[in-house]
Amino acid sequence: MLPKHEGSRALKQFSIATSTLVNPEMNRWREQGGRFMGYFCSAMPVEMITAAGLFPFRVRATGSTGTELSDSYFSSINCSFPRHAFNMALNGDFDFLDGLVVFNSCDHVRRAYDHWVHQLKTPFVQILSLPKKTEAPQIEWFTDELRIFKERMQDFYRVEITDEKLQEAITQHNRSRRLLRDLYATRKADNPPITGAEMLAVTVAGSAMPQDVYARLLDELVDETKGMEGHAGYRARLMLTGGLLDNPEYLETIEGQGGLIVADALCYGSRTLWKDVDENAADPLVALAQYYIADRPSCPRMYTEYPKRTNYIREMVREFRVDGVIFQRLSFCETWGLEQYSMTNDFKEWNIPLLCLEREYVPGGTGQLKTRIQAFLEALGR
Ligand code: SF4
Repeated sequence: MLPKHEGSRALKQFSIATSTLVNPEMNRWREQGGRFMGYFCSAMPVEMITAAGLFPFRVRATGSTGTELSDSYFSSINCSFPRHAFNMALNGDFDFLDGLVVFNSCDHVRRAYDHWVHQLKTPFVQILSLPKKTEAPQIEWFTDELRIFKERMQDFYRVEITDEKLQEAITQHNRSRRLLRDLYATRKADNPPITGAEMLAVTVAGSAMPQDVYARLLDELVDETKGMEGHAGYRARLMLTGGLLDNPEYLETIEGQGGLIVADALCYGSRTLWKDVDENAADPLVALAQYYIADRPSCPRMYTEYPKRTNYIREMVREFRVDGVIFQRLSFCETWGLEQYSMTNDFKEWNIPLLCLEREYVPGGTGQLKTRIQAFLEALGR
């Protein structure tokens, strides 16, 4: 097992924010009269929620122990993430939300929205339509969706979301993205200072902390990494890609077999931070639509972007000197299912070792995962 940085206050806080659903920073926000807007999916322009003075909280099912309540609403061939999330909602774990915004990112999440509207009493619930392509007509369409969302939030929360406030929020979230890229850059070293599991805890925490607190802790960690002893003696440099993954324990199990995760293309990871929103655009809503639909690295929801997505991964493989790529997806996730098929063929052709794994949102035993990783490391000749 790779040694942890027990001494890092920042890493400790990020780990608490990721391993619990509600963390001390959220309690502090509530005590100060703050309100929470929950959202599903990284395509959500969190800057809009920040500009409305609300706390953007990305819905996770951290701590879920089962789906006994939501099983009446979902079939067993539905993705386990919305099933666990909705089970926690029925259990009252999301009663702290003052609002929820959902994308029709996939049919499983769409179904969660339908049930949420009918079964729960969240004061404000909004569904937004996410295009499947990334060209001018889609960006225009998405800009209109964001205008609708902005007007509805203004009416319901009696707030004014001005262009200035949107600009300020864009600058604030971009700052965190830049600090996160600084942290990612440290992982290009022979002996990276932080593990893949620690890095995921850092990025997931960004969806459960006020941005000012988050940026302050990131600043601290960037400084700390300069003096940190790097990880040596690992067997191979690995990269993680694929669908939704918000649990660092999964990465700890992988890294526990001797590989070190030095890069990723996850929607809780580099895909949320590799690019910045344009801070000089005339209309901040257009800038947000451009960024979330076309500029940031996409997921397979965007049908025409497969070449761009694989180029992004290949670029990272080069930049971070990756020995092998691990693709993981939740069972029954069609969105990533098709991608897996295409990648398996192409990565063979490109001579990039690829391991494909399927999993449940709440991991069962780790035995099989450990065996697969050990075999992959041996296949890499490490
Ligand atoms: S992992 Fe796949 S199926 Fe599950 S919510 Fe995400 S896109 Fe939908």
